[in-house]
Formats: sequence, structure tokens, C-alpha cells
Amino acid sequence: MSSPRVRFAPSPTGPLHMGGVRTALYNYLFARKHQGKFILRIEDTDQQRFVPGAEDYIIEALKWCGISPDEGVGFGDGPYAPYRQSDRKALYHQYAEQLIAGGHAYYAFDAAADLEAQRKSMEASGSAFSYNAASRMSMQNSLSLTAEEVKERMASGAAYVVRLKIPSGETVQLHDLVRGDVVVSTDQLDDKVLFKSDGMPTYHLANVVDDYLMKITHVIRGEEWLPSAPLHVLLYRYLGWEDVMPKFAHLPLLLKPDGNGKLSKRDGDRLGFPVFPLNWTDPFSGEVSSGYRERGYYPDSFLNIIALLGWHPSDDKEIVSLDEMIQEFSLEKVSKSGAKFDPEKTKWIHEQYFRKQPDEVLAASLKSLLSQRFGFAATDKRMADAFLIKAVELLKLRVQFENELIDKGIYLFEAPDTYDEAVLTKKWKPEFAIIFAELALAFSNSSAFNATAAEEIFKSIAAQHNRKPGELLQLLRVLISGQAGGVDLFPMIELLGQQEVADRMNRALSRISSMTIPS
Ligand code: GLU
Repeated sequence: MSSPRVRFAPSPTGPLHMGGVRTALYNYLFARKHQGKFILRIEDTDQQRFVPGAEDYIIEALKWCGISPDEGVGFGDGPYAPYRQSDRKALYHQYAEQLIAGGHAYYAFDAAADLEAQRKSMEASGSAFSYNAASRMSMQNSLSLTAEEVKERMASGAAYVVRLKIPSGETVQLHDLVRGDVVVSTDQLDDKVLFKSDGMPTYHLANVVDDYLMKITHVIRGEEWLPSAPLHVLLYRYLGWEDVMPKFAHLPLLLKPDGNGKLSKRDGDRLGFPVFPLNWTDPFSGEVSSGYRERGYYPDSFLNIIALLGWHPSDDKEIVSLDEMIQEFSLEKVSKSGAKFDPEKTKWIHEQYFRKQPDEVLAASLKSLLSQRFGFAATDKRMADAFLIKAVELLKLRVQFENELIDKGIYLFEAPDTYDEAVLTKKWKPEFAIIFAELALAFSNSSAFNATAAEEIFKSIAAQHNRKPGELLQLLRVLISGQAGGVDLFPMIELLGQQEVADRMNRALSRISSMTIPS
């Protein structure tokens, strides 16, 4: 294949959905695999749907994922700049005129209210209104009006749009690299607006014109654009560009975990997973939607997750690096059917990346989390590398995300303020206070303190008081960590150190003596 040019062409109408990131990723993989170029084009011709902040969000999301375009908004201009359609506004009108001159488009003057009235009256008679070969002659346009009338309307500054004149009774064929041959009758298409009264092209015209001008060879996009593809084929034909028309590949929908319909933000809210790569604050409502980055996913675990939504490497393995994806990617292997999103598998994939992180790397990020969240000074003994690496060793198998090293392991860094009430209610006896006080003293007096020594001291004191270790073990954990469960107890005691452990136990004992524990 001679070096392809592909593009990701989002409209800045909100945050990028993970389906959008997948489209960007497949474009990127295809470009890299075939030594081509990957372009980011911002399609912002629909000014009514413009959302402030969305463009920056798209750029930041692509940067975070590490799928940087070779040309495009936010990534440095290439030979076909500008790459934002609103900055290309002056360019499109001539193509609308060219289509009119060739008899493939026409001016239409219908007011929004008239179109609405038509729609209503058709609906009342049980059918849907379509602006097409059957209806266009009864509408207000340059085909139904005389040349004189059209001239007058234009001269008086009447608002108009340009519509594509879809022929009746023809078929449009296209070969989609994912879906195979697609054949559509033009009778199913309507005379789409190409150019609007605000002087802006619509998506259809701008998209085709820009793909042509930017020498795009393959259009890889979501399945929701498949119904527009025949219209785009007609535009290429009528503009005389059919010989350089890009190949199409429409990617399958992302489906809800139960397979029932398209994955939406609401599914994420309901089932507790993000659908956006980064946190997004809606500029109108202020509502914050959570993102994979802030949840603690890594760019490479996130890319691995979305890559598998509709594509698999040949050996079906589930952990695939970006380089392997580039090696293996092919559009022919993208599945036709919708890709079910599986939140559990998503976490599992991330977990594999988390587990592969060297302890030193996790310790370093734990260090920065501790300083950010709790302001621990660099000289604090809990910030010492040796301490943090041991903390990571203890916690690593119990968590899946870096931030959980703190969220689920806070007791390694701070003495508890509260003590698990369920355990106290079930197991605490007033006569244990003396045993634990003795144990705290023995811990702090031990001359060679480590996990094994701590365990032996514990067992011997329990035996002296005729108590089975099982009666006291979980209580010991609660006194030290506040929690009913957690990392291995005696290694934790070794890590915290004899004095810290003894202090925590004494503090807990004095708190408990002033508590009323229901029995
Ligand atoms: N602007 C369209 C979108 O928002 C692009 C569709 C295409 O890639 O042609 O998805």
C-alpha cells in the first residue's frame, strides 16, 4: 500500500467518548502500520452544537493516550493547514456552487416553519416527510421556482440553503473494508443540506471536501456514519473526484455490558465505570463526569482495553502493547458486530499492567501521592524509599490501581482514628486490655524486632494468659490499623516498627476503654 493518509475528525460537541478514542486509535494503528500519516481535523461547522472546552479536551485526551497525530489542530500544522473547519470556512462555497452548476444541487428557500408544517401534515397522514425527488417540486427552491423568482429572492437577501439533488431510482454501491459491499437505493436518501444560510457548509460537504483536499485515502469512522456513506459517494461522483475517493471502514458500535443497545454515559454512571478518557466538567451544568485517567488507568492499559473493543490480535491474546497492535492491526480483522463493553475485563486488563510495574516505580508514585494528598515532607520516615518499597510489596497484591495503595493502605502511613466496630463488638472483652498492654510493652522492649519475633512474642503472651491466638489476632490488627482486614499482620508490624506499633496499641486501648462497646 502506498503510504496512506487517514484522519480522526471529531466534532467538538462534548467530551470524547471512549468509542471516539477507539476510532482515533484504529486510525493511528493503520497509519503507523503502513507508514502513513494520521491527521486530526476538527469538524466544527455546526455552530449550534459547539461546546466550549471540547476541542481542548480532545487534544488533551489524545496526548494522554499517546496517539499523537502527525498533522492537525493542537499537534502542529502540516501541508494542508488549517485543520479546523471553521478556519476553512471560505473554502467550501465554491464546491456548493460547482454542484449547482453541474445540476447536482439547488438553492432552497423554505423557512424552518414551512418545513415543520410539511412534516406535521405528512405525519398526520401516517407517513414521514422527506425532502426528495417526490416532494421537492412542491417546495420553495430553484427547481420549483422560475429563474426570475430565484433571482428576486436572492437579490432581496432571502435566506437559502443548498441541497444535494438526489436522483430517484438509482443504486449507490460502495465497498466497506469492515462490512463488505453496501448497496443503497437513492430512493432511501433525501436531499441533504450541503450549505447553510449562516455561510457554513454542513458536515457532509465539509467532510468530503476536506477528505479530498487533505488527500485522505481511508475513512475509518464509527458505524453511525454508515448511512451517510452513500451520500458521500454521490458527492465524490458529482464533484468529479470518484477516482480518488477514499476507501471506507465503518467500525462496530460499542454496546452496553448486556449487549442491549449503544453504550452511554448513563450506563457508566449506573454501573460505576467511566466512558470518557479524562474527567470532563460540563461547561453549562457544571456536572463532572469521571475519566479513565483520574480513575488511575494508565495510557497503555486504557489503549489495550479499547483496542480489543472490536478487534483481536491473531493469537487472541488479551494483553497487547501499542507496538504489537501496530504490527498486527488490520481493518479486515475488525469485527462487523457490535463490541460488548465488559467492565470487569476492563479492570482485569488494567490490573495486568499494574502488576507489571516494578516496585520502585510504584513506590515513587506512592511518594508523590503522599506528598500531594497529605503534604508529607521528603524527610518524613514514611517517605523513605526502603519504607515505601516494603509498603508496596505488602499492598501490591491487594489492589489494582496506584491510588488504592493509599486508599486501601492508609493505615501503613497514618495511625487510625476509628476502630472497626463490628470486630470490637464481636470479639472485644474488657479483660483483653491488660493482655494487649503487656504485648505493647513487650513489642517496644524487644531487642531484635521483626515479623517473626513479633509473632513469637504475641503467641507467648497469649499462651501466658491462656488465650488462643485466634481470639486475639484480629483484635490486634484492629488496634494497629483500625481495620478488620488488610495486609499480612506481622510483616505490617515489622514495617511500622516496634515503637509505632506499641504507641498505636496504647492509643487504641485508651480509646477503647472510654468507648461503650455493645456486647
Ligand atoms: N465529525 C464527524 C464526527 O463527529 C466525523 C465523521 C467522519 O469521520 O466522517 O464523528
